[in-house]
Amino acid sequence: MYTNRLITLQLIKMAKKTNKNTWELAPAPESSGHIDLKKQYELFIDGRWVAPKKKKYFATTNPANEKKIANIAYADESDVDLAVAAARKAFDGVWSKIAPSERAKYIYRIARIMQERSRELAVIETMDGGKPIRESRDVDVPLAANHFFYNAGWADKLEYAFPTKRAEPLGVAGQIIPWNFPLLMAAWKIAPALAAGNTVVLKPAETTSLTALKLAEIIEEAGLPPGVVNIVTGHGDTGAAIVNHPDVNKVAFTGSTGVGKIIQNAIAGTNKKATLELGGKSANIIFADAPIDQAVEGIVNGIFFNQGHVCCAGSRLFVQESVAELVIKKLKDRIGTLIVGDPMDKNTDIGAINSKEQLGIINKYIKIGNEEGAEMYQPSCNVPSKGYFCPPTLFTNVAQSSRIVQEEIFGPVLAIQTFRTIDEVIQKANNTPYGLAAGVWTDKGSRIFNLTTKLRAGVIWANTYNKFDPTSPFGGYKESGFGREGGLHGLSAYVKLV
Ligand code: ADP
Repeated sequence: MYTNRLITLQLIKMAKKTNKNTWELAPAPESSGHIDLKKQYELFIDGRWVAPKKKKYFATTNPANEKKIANIAYADESDVDLAVAAARKAFDGVWSKIAPSERAKYIYRIARIMQERSRELAVIETMDGGKPIRESRDVDVPLAANHFFYNAGWADKLEYAFPTKRAEPLGVAGQIIPWNFPLLMAAWKIAPALAAGNTVVLKPAETTSLTALKLAEIIEEAGLPPGVVNIVTGHGDTGAAIVNHPDVNKVAFTGSTGVGKIIQNAIAGTNKKATLELGGKSANIIFADAPIDQAVEGIVNGIFFNQGHVCCAGSRLFVQESVAELVIKKLKDRIGTLIVGDPMDKNTDIGAINSKEQLGIINKYIKIGNEEGAEMYQPSCNVPSKGYFCPPTLFTNVAQSSRIVQEEIFGPVLAIQTFRTIDEVIQKANNTPYGLAAGVWTDKGSRIFNLTTKLRAGVIWANTYNKFDPTSPFGGYKESGFGREGGLHGLSAYVKLV
């Protein structure tokens, strides 16, 4: 009782009511004192840390303060060639030969070490990528470990995963990942590949290499045979060298639709299998009978979670006309309480935009929205002067043909439209080149089932948004790519069924 009163008094002392209807909280930064980062990172090839042949490096910086964190090796074709050769040797010599139950043990070990080092991984993810520590800690790292646990379970049960068929590994998997969920994407890609008996050459995105390199340390600690997992860092040309390498059997890519198209062209006519998880412009649809307060939370979670750096972000909002005014008012009130700032602070809701380039792209679209005549709303919030930040942004009065409705922005920018009938909203929601995800908020189960069959989206959430689980497949229609990751579908992308 006494303690409670003390806390309340302290809170009142610390907090002052501001004109944006929120409390100003005292800083609560996560400590980074416990983490171990080197000044320079080499390539992880054949179980060893090797310098790139041309001795080229690039800097990785913290987008929240623009400070350099470390130098990262820049791999070229000859380094990629070494990595692919190591992966091939490990595939032929060890990984495709050992008992599947042995493979499972290694993968479980990786999952457990990730859990043991979860705090370190979360802090590094936030420093390197800009996402709030709350998300790295509660979403990215636990989910990444879960992907290893889940797939480890399948390693010695492939005959049950694919009954009546024999599942054979494909060989060497070349995997290229983006910067929005660096560790999680690495886990999505590496875990099923290893479980099915493939070996891996993985390239993280150039702005967020650090947690993939930490994962390499974990893989070393778990004692995986050399060459089973190789991590090569670099830019787009490093990724292209992996895609074009003749000894790569499977390409798994997550990133922009533009690069996905380049990759699809590059592998056309080869025997390489591919899964491409690309962009999105997902619709979050609120019907008049929806639980409005929960829906508002779902909208916020759908687009402002991870600064909108989510391929399946609910970046288009459709609200049924009779509740539009109410929903928009509640949404404006709610985003006025979001804290934009230091991603290492445990109270922060919206962290830093991943890079200066990405902030430039987001600002370009905000300008386009204004020029196209849409009405913009941004709450008044204190955005740090150093680092790359963008306040939550709403656009109303937008046309279906507007570029902010049709094109992926990959930032905390929401385009709001209204609708009257189900047919109208289905037609509008499907009217983009993408088809990754959608959200439906309504009290009626039958309406949910009706919409799930008519919306052209790979994932449809009902009365929730942005929920992930290693057992569920994820992937898109149309220009959002093809193939599924996660669950048995994800595993099947790494096997040949004979
Ligand atoms: P984003 O727009 O999300 O940064 P990109 O598609 O540009 O997405 O990048 C995703 C990943 O693809 C990164 O690791 C990047 O280095 C890599 N990449 C970029 N260009 C190419 C390419 N031509 N071939 C293969 N990988 C590439």
